[in-house]
Amino acid sequence: MMIILFFPAVTVDVQVSKFYSDPQIAGNGPAGIALSSFLSGMHPFYDVRHPHENVTVHERLLANQDFSLIDQDLSWSSDLTELSQSGRPLSVLYDMLVRPGADMGSESPGCLQWEMHREREVDHMVIGETKIGGSWNEYDPAMLTVSFSDWMDMPGLTMEQWLCGRPMVKRLPSVAIATYLKKYVEKLRLRKKFHQHFVVSSIRKVGDVWVTEGKRSTDGRMFRIRSKQVVVACGKTSPRKLELPNEELCSSNIVYDVRTLKERLDSTKKTVIDEECYDTPSTSTSAPVIVVGDGVSSVDCVRHCLERDIPVVHVIRRTLRELRNVMLSRLSPAHYSEYTNIYRMMIGRHAHKNYQRLLDSNISSISKIHVEITTGTREIIEMPYSTLAVCIGRESHFSSVFDSAHTFLDYRSQQDPTLFAVGAYAGDHFVRFLVGGCLRVAQHINCNMNNNNVEKGVKLV
Ligand SMILES: Cc1cc2nc3c(=O)[nH]c(=O)nc-3n(C[C@H](O)[C@H](O)[C@H](O)COP(=O)(O)OP(=O)(O)OC[C@H]3O[C@@H](n4cnc5c(N)ncnc54)[C@H](O)[C@@H]3O)c2cc1C
Repeated sequence: MMIILFFPAVTVDVQVSKFYSDPQIAGNGPAGIALSSFLSGMHPFYDVRHPHENVTVHERLLANQDFSLIDQDLSWSSDLTELSQSGRPLSVLYDMLVRPGADMGSESPGCLQWEMHREREVDHMVIGETKIGGSWNEYDPAMLTVSFSDWMDMPGLTMEQWLCGRPMVKRLPSVAIATYLKKYVEKLRLRKKFHQHFVVSSIRKVGDVWVTEGKRSTDGRMFRIRSKQVVVACGKTSPRKLELPNEELCSSNIVYDVRTLKERLDSTKKTVIDEECYDTPSTSTSAPVIVVGDGVSSVDCVRHCLERDIPVVHVIRRTLRELRNVMLSRLSPAHYSEYTNIYRMMIGRHAHKNYQRLLDSNISSISKIHVEITTGTREIIEMPYSTLAVCIGRESHFSSVFDSAHTFLDYRSQQDPTLFAVGAYAGDHFVRFLVGGCLRVAQHINCNMNNNNVEKGVKLV
């Protein structure tokens, strides 16, 4: 006789790691790191030994020299013409205090001094899907930064201090920035605040508490974090697509960043190291790489092709007139020769046997072997290609984790005063500016946490 035993169905309780943290910061790139530093007690004070040359800035800060910038009302910065024009007065104020006259090549000392006040620490948690350093873990490690190394400084421990001396070159490879960000977190003893490989899938409000949920990418374990305040520091990490009907179907021929293009080229071509080889006729018979976009990433793509003797067709949406005003046009040849050389080809001042530009043009359709390019005069050009490199900017899809839409003003949600945004997600794309935005959010959070500023008689807005 066969006995069949039925066991009652076991309810598998999916294990969920639960945390309480206030605030919770989603994103562990430069913005998440800078904010964590401020919340851990790293405070900037006006250094009266190095007064700022702007009289209003000097007088305002001098009057509050005993208070950290986090504890003082800096709203006057939006009344200063030179700051208000930027639309982000505090970001620009912070930059000009840390690096006075940097854009004019000045190397004057900064006007801030830093003090660590551990007793002011606001308990918080920083989560991110990457390792500490955010997007800087994803870039081509050899890519030289557009920013000079001191423009990448985090609060209170500069690149120069970390390297124990000023770097010999102005621009460092991206791997140095990624390493600096990790070492910064360790040196400031912020490491326990950071939880890597946490991927957020939803953030919703239950009563007056935010509930952030997601999965750890390392072991699939779910997490749930409850907090009174949330800061979105998730950057803009998804490349913009052309949004053409066949784009997904042709994805094996399309790349959206320099690193992937370089890896693809390196697996098929050898590098032309000697620049003089540029003058010899092209040995390449292959279909061209088509590069779309006119920012530094697209220029990097063009450069990597030319260095490998690969023909490039550069599709640029702007007209010649518009192209004369882009950021590339303002870069100094002394520091950015790799960009200015190609910019000259883009505006037609220089020619190269392997480089063809199409201005005022767009990719209008794509198949696995051809692209169709529509020019400003409505001419349609059909062209074979080997790879299509699309570098037309980045966006974020993070807002889909919320169940309702939020708009941000002064880094705070206009719909909910306990939700904030910093860094690239909030429109501060460069590290030199995003730290000032983090300072503003540290002010908001300190204010919300009702710390002892009221006793000090300092007005926070
Ligand atoms: C090719 C390139 C070169 C650049 N060069 C410079 C330069 O020279 N100087 C400069 O100042 N800036 C440069 N930038 C801009 C760069 O974006 C900023 O330096 C900076 O990284 C922005 O910091 P962030 O903290 O806002 O975002 P990020 O560094 O992008 O960090 C955001 C983090 O949030 C994470 N995240 C996103 N969604 C989720 C989710 N659902 N769950 C969990 N985590 C999530 C991301 O994975 C990432 O780890 C460059 C950008 C590119 C693309």
